[in-house]
Amino acid sequence: MTKKEIAALAVAELEKLYPAAECTLDYGEPYELLIATRLAAQCTDARVNIVTKELFAKYPTLEAFANADLAELEQYVKPCGFYRTKAKSIIEMSQRLISDFGGVVPDTMEELLSLSGVGRKTANLILGDVYGKPAVVTDTHCIRITGRLGLTKNTEPHKVEDDLRKLLPPDKSNDFCHRVVEFGRDICKARSPKCGECPLNTFCRDYAKKK
Ligand code: SF4
Repeated sequence: MTKKEIAALAVAELEKLYPAAECTLDYGEPYELLIATRLAAQCTDARVNIVTKELFAKYPTLEAFANADLAELEQYVKPCGFYRTKAKSIIEMSQRLISDFGGVVPDTMEELLSLSGVGRKTANLILGDVYGKPAVVTDTHCIRITGRLGLTKNTEPHKVEDDLRKLLPPDKSNDFCHRVVEFGRDICKARSPKCGECPLNTFCRDYAKKK
């Protein structure tokens, strides 16, 4: 079976398993997704959602974040870890969105990457979820699972993204990545994947090797 065929089967099976492909971070405005994703680095989405509930109430606009007092913002984001760096980049990012982009989150990879603290993972999330553009979000679940399936031998996010872009239908790639996160939490876990009950086990290369 070719990698493209495996990818097509994985896309179809995960669609059946998780009909609703949703971002697990809570947000209302596009800039709030940027902030939530910034906070999610080295932190769980569940914890970020607890923090942002209060955070977005305290700072209800982009301007409020741009004008935030750094020390005060740090205390709000502290439970997410790396709070000094995260708070600083949230303020810088908000200021740049206002000064250079008219308060609108940009819709190109290049512009998104120019924002403080924004990497390819965040940029892809914005492009896919906010703008409906083909996006490949390579988080830890995606890298692990696509590696096990045999879709990539790489482990660096950027290289995995390149590999997957060649294999996934562009209109399916963003939802696929959301579904892979759920699949990684439920079935294809890091330490003890539930291969016996996995609907992808008929074409998973890792499972075939184990057998
Ligand atoms: S068969 Fe096992 S390793 Fe392969 S995708 Fe399923 S759970 Fe993951």
